[in-house]
Amino acid sequence: MTILLNGIGVSQGIAIGNAYIYVRATTKATEYNVPARYHDKEIARLRMAVNEASKQLHEIKTKIARETPEDILAFIDSHLLMLEDPAFDEGAALIIKEFSCNAEWALQIQCDRLVQIFDEMEDPYLKTRKDDVVHVVQRIQHCLSEKPETTIEPVKLKGRIVISDDLTPADTLMMQHEKVAAFVTEFGGPMSHTAILARNLGIPAIVGVHNARQLIHPTEKLIIDGHYGTVIGDPDARSLKHYRNLRQQSHERKAQLNRLINKPAITQDGVAIVIQGNIDRPEDIRNLKHFDDTGVGLYRTEMLFLENSKLVDEEIQFKTYKRTLFRLKGKPLTIRTLDLGADKEIQDAMGQGPMAHNPAMGLRAIRRCLKEPEYFIPQLCAIMRVAAYGDVKMMIPMMTSIDELEQISELIEHAKELLRQRKVRFNEQIEIGAMIEVPAAALSSDVFADRLDFLSIGTNDLIQYTLAIDRIDDEVNYLYNPLHPAVLKLIRITIEAGKKAKIPVSMCGEMASEPRYTRLLLGMGLEYFSIQANAILEIKHIINNSNLSQLQNQAEEIMRCHDLHEIEALVDKLNN
Ligand code: PEP
Ligand code: MG
Repeated sequence: MTILLNGIGVSQGIAIGNAYIYVRATTKATEYNVPARYHDKEIARLRMAVNEASKQLHEIKTKIARETPEDILAFIDSHLLMLEDPAFDEGAALIIKEFSCNAEWALQIQCDRLVQIFDEMEDPYLKTRKDDVVHVVQRIQHCLSEKPETTIEPVKLKGRIVISDDLTPADTLMMQHEKVAAFVTEFGGPMSHTAILARNLGIPAIVGVHNARQLIHPTEKLIIDGHYGTVIGDPDARSLKHYRNLRQQSHERKAQLNRLINKPAITQDGVAIVIQGNIDRPEDIRNLKHFDDTGVGLYRTEMLFLENSKLVDEEIQFKTYKRTLFRLKGKPLTIRTLDLGADKEIQDAMGQGPMAHNPAMGLRAIRRCLKEPEYFIPQLCAIMRVAAYGDVKMMIPMMTSIDELEQISELIEHAKELLRQRKVRFNEQIEIGAMIEVPAAALSSDVFADRLDFLSIGTNDLIQYTLAIDRIDDEVNYLYNPLHPAVLKLIRITIEAGKKAKIPVSMCGEMASEPRYTRLLLGMGLEYFSIQANAILEIKHIINNSNLSQLQNQAEEIMRCHDLHEIEALVDKLNN
């Protein structure tokens, strides 16, 4: 029977394929009290889970033994050794008694203690063994939860439409690697990093399809329309024909736009507009170059850390950034310093305390880097070293106050001094800019503009923080509107601050990639766009068919409006 479900389309495109229900393994342990009379029972539950985990590993070992390289087998053996060491579950059993807590929590405490011991070791190899502890504990925790651990078999994902409760950015990267056709999640919003990633990767995606995993049968045929957020399960022949036609039309439109590849973006009254790309990984340059021989206005470096699920040292960062720069073949590269936190979390991230109540407003991005300079300085060094090889700029996310800027400047000076002492090549004069994505920063953008080389407006967060709307919460998503007069005012203030200080102001938030807003932004004076590669040709087409002087008057009229509906209507008029 055909079924129609609706969600929020977050990444355009039509996909037709079979479903794959993906149950994410949740590894967060919860704590509850276990009265003393139940301690023995809880310890028995723990031991059963340890035995089960060990049984699973033995099974895996027998399955893969023949064709598996020695080092992978040794890795499984080391996990088995840990599981079978009586001291391991003895330790957790003592914690159950000491704290009257459940087995999951006891394991977590045990894990944290062991990780700390490994962390304090001098030997870098031994230090990394803490990952094994974490993996072993997670395996036991899965056994305790009685949920089977999801192992994705790559062959199963190719061409499939993945249905999940939610996906992390790391899951999404893995899915692209496995060539999934599209994905549908039950939760999440269009500005979540996962949704942005899907757009960058060109994977059609829909979020907020509540109960999708119950309503869609495993392996059932599906049609996904990532623009309208429509999911059709078990489609009839007529629907299939209709969507195949739409897919064809979209291919034709793309072929027309391809004529603009490598052509300049210039308004009809002769104003040149700069379009650059947003990337997450060096590999994304290939897609960017497919659409335009341009530079990068936003390189989100945290994806390197998310893919490795840990902090990455200076040398690896240096090599990765250098590879990215060389792929750009002489075009500029703006590297954004780490923006970890909120929906971008890694396992052994720095500064990770107890779960924050409001992670988006907590220890995120530059706040986190300033708290843990020992992790930030290697990144500063890596970026400044790469800047010796080409046009590289450094951009700071989530800047909020001038005091932060002063602290950052001190750390940059310190990093320079370290590089001088090490006698390594670096760029002393690297250009430094800030993202304007917190209302406080937008309101103080004149002060930032006087002290920095460039600004870039991050509308994804600017809208979230101005309108008090969690960008990943689909329940309040209907309130997320880039056209809200307060948002437009903050954008205008920032653009004007840049013009007054004669520094470039770019926009790298998703608003810049959305064709609906291009004319309004041009009219407001924006001259630098940093956008998803897939949107470049469409945005260029709009710019090349716009007359700036006319748009300025229309934008003025919009800026004078306070009524959201009126603004919406005027923007539609601007686009017709
Ligand atoms: C933004 O906030 O607009 C932005 C570009 O940063 P991110 O989406 O990575 O938070
Ligand atoms: Mg941001």
